[in-house]
Amino acid sequence: MKPAIWLALVAATLVLPWLPGLPLFWVSLACQIGISAIIAVGLVVLTGVAGMTSFAQASLMGISAYTTALITTKLGISPWLGLPAAMAVTLVVAFAIGSITLRLSGHYLALGTIAWSVSLYYLYANLDLVGRNDGLTGIPPLSLFGQKLIDIRFSAQIIGLSLIGGMIASLHLLDSRWGRAMRSLRGGAVAAASVGVDLGRARMLAFVFAALMAALAGWLFAHMQRVVNPTSFGLVAGIQYLLMAVMGGAAHLPGALLGATAVVLVNNSLQDWLPFLFGAGVSAETIVFGVALVLILQAAPAGLWPVIAPRLSRSHRVAETALTVQTMPKLGAVALRASGLQRRFGGLVAVADLSFTLYQGELLGLIGPNGAGKSTSFNLLSGADHPDAGRVELAGQDVTGCTPQMMARRGLARSFQHARLVPSLSVIENVALGAHLRGHASPLSAILRRDRDEEAHIYAEAARQLARCGLADLADHNATSLALGQQRIVEIARALAAGPSVLLLDEPAAGLRHGEKQSLAALLRQLRDEGMAILLVEHDMEFVMSLADNLVVMDFGTVIATGKPSDVRRNPAVIEAYLGGVA
Ligand code: ADP
Ligand code: MG
Repeated sequence: MKPAIWLALVAATLVLPWLPGLPLFWVSLACQIGISAIIAVGLVVLTGVAGMTSFAQASLMGISAYTTALITTKLGISPWLGLPAAMAVTLVVAFAIGSITLRLSGHYLALGTIAWSVSLYYLYANLDLVGRNDGLTGIPPLSLFGQKLIDIRFSAQIIGLSLIGGMIASLHLLDSRWGRAMRSLRGGAVAAASVGVDLGRARMLAFVFAALMAALAGWLFAHMQRVVNPTSFGLVAGIQYLLMAVMGGAAHLPGALLGATAVVLVNNSLQDWLPFLFGAGVSAETIVFGVALVLILQAAPAGLWPVIAPRLSRSHRVAETALTVQTMPKLGAVALRASGLQRRFGGLVAVADLSFTLYQGELLGLIGPNGAGKSTSFNLLSGADHPDAGRVELAGQDVTGCTPQMMARRGLARSFQHARLVPSLSVIENVALGAHLRGHASPLSAILRRDRDEEAHIYAEAARQLARCGLADLADHNATSLALGQQRIVEIARALAAGPSVLLLDEPAAGLRHGEKQSLAALLRQLRDEGMAILLVEHDMEFVMSLADNLVVMDFGTVIATGKPSDVRRNPAVIEAYLGGVA
């Protein structure tokens, strides 16, 4: 968003609460909405963007609220110093909870956060230090120049500014190197791993960021309410925050504000009339919200925001120059060597004995009929799967058993037979994801916008690779809207953006038209001439025959022939394997 819009929002936040005649009840509602929206902004990043459901945000908010309440009441420290202290304690707790819980995924992760939410609630309710069920009282208000900011209109201003700050921080973080990594967690994790993204770190980052948003809200809450007790930090509150994020549109930041507004307003009116229906003390609103959550997830899983607002496309500054070109290993050096690879699936031997050597500046074709074991071999070579026996060497180093991330760090890049682009990223962003390891900016420097130069170079690199692959026109398209053949070419661009020295391609020509195949062939020749080592797994015989320097032919998991295409073409075993077909 443009700075002018943010300035207008800041001005509105400062002025609106003081409008003459504005009922104070409205201001107080706005404060509730603002604090909730800050938590929901964190959930947009955690749940909407990174795909991890958390019911524990209210509990994390509690950690912060209790921390600042304790140190300001017991130690008499200024509430302003309570903020960094509360943030720090929440950070440590979130990190600890995250390292235990984030190994879980899907529903199990959600259940894990429910467990944390319940146990933290009982901790708050039973710990003498934090006043058990009575909580802590007498928390000092914020003050400025010796003046206590007790008026709720001050609170509204401070909450509004915090919300704007939180939104800006989230936007900056999402539009960065680690932002792409976090966005890939939803539907693109395998692809991200293949270009070296540390998925565990990306998950932890989203979790800790959301926790810090909850911490900011908890600090505001403690000094505005001036009392804290366990009821505000239980599972019911956790469900409500999640509902806000999901209802507004979990993947959209403005949706957080929309959802918070809707839930707070509905909650307020429900509390007015539900007791007449169910009797006092039943807390029937929890049931209403639970049902609402389920209904929304079924009817409009993307939330309300995308329904009422157009999709804003992100624009990226592109530098004049791309990233510096990586030096290629010496021409003719051993790039990739497989020795005696074997992989069984139960009784089926998918790869029985595969050995070959790929050199820098060589285009090697791995061919064979359907089911020969090509894709399985491909996975063994790229670290996506591990052999039962045998050895893989990359640039002379044993990499058997290495993860895809480790392979990527050592200069190997790959495409997938079934294209795996990150659905929520545009074409150029998908390619920029490929350059993840070539950037260095930390999440904090992204939030502070200190990563702009590096990002501009990354986008220049992505644009260069896209242009090279003939897809410059499609840069801003939604990645998954492309034809499947084109998606596979985007994958090649993404692989190239990683600056690899070894490139593994699984059936890149499938689904391409004749002209597109020709340009792909030209590109691959050019890369080979630059010294890249390319392993091409291909079904299309004509394509690979005209392109490859050497061929390895597999059938039933073993190598049945190797050599120049012209020799392999005449090999009886190969003709037999292909039933005298195309060869
Ligand atoms: P290709 O890519 O040459 O067509 P694949 O490597 O995909 O062949 O498959 C080789 C054999 O291994 C096939 O019989 C296939 O059914 C089997 N296979 C591949 N992956 C698995 C798996 N994950 N589990 C069980 N069998 C598999
Ligand atoms: Mg295959």
